[in-house]
Amino acid sequence: MNAAAAKALALETGFDKAGIVGPEVAPGAPGWTRSMLVLGLATLDEAFDYEIYIAYDGHCRWHKFVYAVLEARSARLAGCLRAAGLRADHLLFDDSISVIDLRVAAVAAGLGVEGLNGLVVSPEYGPRIRFTAVFAAADWQRDGALGDYYCLNCTRCWGGCPTAAIGPQGFDRSLCIAEFNPTPAMAIRQREMQTYPTPVTRSQCVACLAACPIGQRRPVERWVDVRRG
Ligand code: SF4
Ligand code: SF4
Repeated sequence: MNAAAAKALALETGFDKAGIVGPEVAPGAPGWTRSMLVLGLATLDEAFDYEIYIAYDGHCRWHKFVYAVLEARSARLAGCLRAAGLRADHLLFDDSISVIDLRVAAVAAGLGVEGLNGLVVSPEYGPRIRFTAVFAAADWQRDGALGDYYCLNCTRCWGGCPTAAIGPQGFDRSLCIAEFNPTPAMAIRQREMQTYPTPVTRSQCVACLAACPIGQRRPVERWVDVRRG
């Protein structure tokens, strides 16, 4: 299987974008990795950003729906690659940041550029896209970063942020109410500012994404795909 076939398989598996980078982009990748598929899923439905509180077997945490979708689809893709005779495995989100910085990988794979919001902004979906990766023992041709920097520098994302967590100074994680591991003070702020449709469901802040004018149009066919997915 060559690089083009691997990327086509990724799209068939339910991803919207796929690019290939080398293992140097992910210092924590398995030692046998020779190439990585970086995979983008357009998150055009706000349901992707809902989180559910799971208390199970001594573990209590907020679990984000989009990560479950990304893991399920990447596990399926890795399984298809193994069925084709390749060693392959998918990224787990529990400790993903120690394995790979997905924003760096997505930019290196040419899936988007880093916008003023600090997120990867794709040409088609703007920042409404989430990423994961599949590791493979295959020498696939690499993709490169995009040559065109199309973030409009409009700063609407800065203006949309309710806590000034992003601005000319960059991204201040301590002010972001979407933080997964909040300080006690931030946890209080989250309870005040986030919406809770049910006692165990919360809607994460996505104001900086929603403000971005790039890729706001929602293709109807994607809604159909999401429902089938
Ligand atoms: S997620 Fe919300 S708080 Fe965090 S940077 Fe974006 S708009 Fe600001
Ligand atoms: S809102 Fe404007 S400045 Fe911010 S990422 Fe989108 S295009 Fe770039």
